[in-house]
Amino acid sequence: MRIDILTLFPEMFVSPLNASILKRAQEKGKVVINLVNIRDYAGNKHGQVDDYPYGGGAGMVMKPDVVVRAIESVRGEDSWVIYMSPRGKTLKQDKVRELAERKHLVLLCGHYEGIDERALAFVDEEISIGDYVLTGGELPALVLVDAVVRLIPGVLGDEKSAEDESFSRGLLEYPHYTRPSIFRDQKVPEVLLSGHHENIRLWRKKQSLLVTLLKRPELLLQREYDEEEKKLLQEILFGREQ
Ligand code: SAM
Repeated sequence: MRIDILTLFPEMFVSPLNASILKRAQEKGKVVINLVNIRDYAGNKHGQVDDYPYGGGAGMVMKPDVVVRAIESVRGEDSWVIYMSPRGKTLKQDKVRELAERKHLVLLCGHYEGIDERALAFVDEEISIGDYVLTGGELPALVLVDAVVRLIPGVLGDEKSAEDESFSRGLLEYPHYTRPSIFRDQKVPEVLLSGHHENIRLWRKKQSLLVTLLKRPELLLQREYDEEEKKLLQEILFGREQ
């Protein structure tokens, strides 16, 4: 996969892209991430990228000609252009999975009051990372890149770790424990020490349902259940099989 990030602040990406999984994914050649400084497309000797809003009001607006030149400098046949925007659809794991299948993502980071509305005609999709306003699209772009890149096959050491994670099956993940087996009077659940793989699998599935019920019950209404999950849910809700 190739990801081009269009930004006025490329320096904001240097450290996050050079650590942990994102660094390794690039080293392994699973993803090529390219930073494009939108200012290089200003087209004037002052490097002006923004201007006052028509109609007045606070803040500046990113100029459409500059933004579109930056998009067109990297866009090809297989590109999917995303504008990081609080007005976009909130990013969810199913969208992350969909984006992980694409060959080329172009992420446009806004700043100031955002981009001139007419530049949206050159964008395929607007994505928000949540109902709050950040200073620029750089942190949202990094969130999206991190979430997408870890789903590219071969990026995580163990593919199962992405399969079991929260949201991958419409549920939150089960709890994890490591040594010591007793920490400040709190014991690791007995089943995890038993070495009985089937019991451990069932316990994890049940915990996953329970944690979701307690923390994000609305997620339970948005999915279908296999027979085993129905049985485990009945045990959670009624304390026994029905
Ligand atoms: N005036 C805009 C509004 O009220 O919707 C907010 C502009 S914000 C200060 C500047 C830029 O940050 C936006 O153009 C967008 O690229 C980015 N941004 C801010 N919050 C975001 C969010 N929740 N998700 C994605 N991008 C966001």
